[in-house]
Amino acid sequence: MTTEGSTTAAPGWMGAEMAALRTAYQSNHLSHGLLIHEAPGAGGNWLAKWIAALVMCQNVAEAPCGRCPGCHRVATSQHPDLLVLQPEEESTQIKIEQIRALSEELGLTAHQGNYKVAVITPADTLNRFAANALLKTLEEPPARTLLMLVVTQPSRLPATILSRCQKVRIRAPARQEAVAWLQATRGPANWDVVLDTLGEAPMLAAEVDPKALMDIGSEVRRALDDAVAGRGDPVTTADRWSRSDLPLRLRCIENWLTDQIRAHSGSDSSFTKLGAGAHPPRGTPVLNMGYLFELMDAVRELKSSLDAPINKGLALEAVLRRFAR
Ligand SMILES: [Zn+2]
Repeated sequence: MTTEGSTTAAPGWMGAEMAALRTAYQSNHLSHGLLIHEAPGAGGNWLAKWIAALVMCQNVAEAPCGRCPGCHRVATSQHPDLLVLQPEEESTQIKIEQIRALSEELGLTAHQGNYKVAVITPADTLNRFAANALLKTLEEPPARTLLMLVVTQPSRLPATILSRCQKVRIRAPARQEAVAWLQATRGPANWDVVLDTLGEAPMLAAEVDPKALMDIGSEVRRALDDAVAGRGDPVTTADRWSRSDLPLRLRCIENWLTDQIRAHSGSDSSFTKLGAGAHPPRGTPVLNMGYLFELMDAVRELKSSLDAPINKGLALEAVLRRFAR
């Protein structure tokens, strides 16, 4: 979780959810288990931190006030009663030992005599054993405990966990809203192009260097256009990409595919044959729709196996070769 979260401008696209959560808290109806289901990069961690400040703020009537010591400690990630659980370094999963330690900690009295808050993020990285262990805490939480699970793919969690949490959905904001927020938070830049590259993921966009990202985005687009046209060298490209900014590049590839699929839907859907050698103008679909979806699956599969001990260069090379079918 980033520490700047709570000090940035409030994301307007979560306004309704924030108001509802505040009302629930002030009328004592806040559930002890919240499942924050976010569109990727739409701000699940930001909202979790805001909710932590809501329940730890010392000015209940205007919580989170942003001025009291409680709010300040949450904003700087130094609140002793705010626990954040993530996969440990070098790991892709949250393990049972971490959940056991968390449950033990939650069982102790709050340092500040108020709420104890745990944020599990991304909660879809809980492995099966950890999820089972968490279930016990969700079923019988100690008093004044708030557990928040931040996920992009709730279907990866057991139904028993899902059914014990109140769901909060964060959708991706409209483009205009995302750009306005990025400008207020990060200052002027060509945020439209950044979002074209990353997708509608403003919180992710806020963490990147717009210039560097745009360079990566245009490099990926150029390489894919080349690959489709039978040019370029997948071996060298895959080798280099697998060693620098690979997740970002895969995201760019997904966006390239999405653009192609969109262009297809907009055209008279007669499938265009792959033109050998001819370099098509940007936005003209050259791969047929079914094949584009196959490629999308291949890219997503690679994305989800990034943390597995596989040879990423070889795996990426195999995917890139399929663009030049
Ligand atoms: Zn406060």
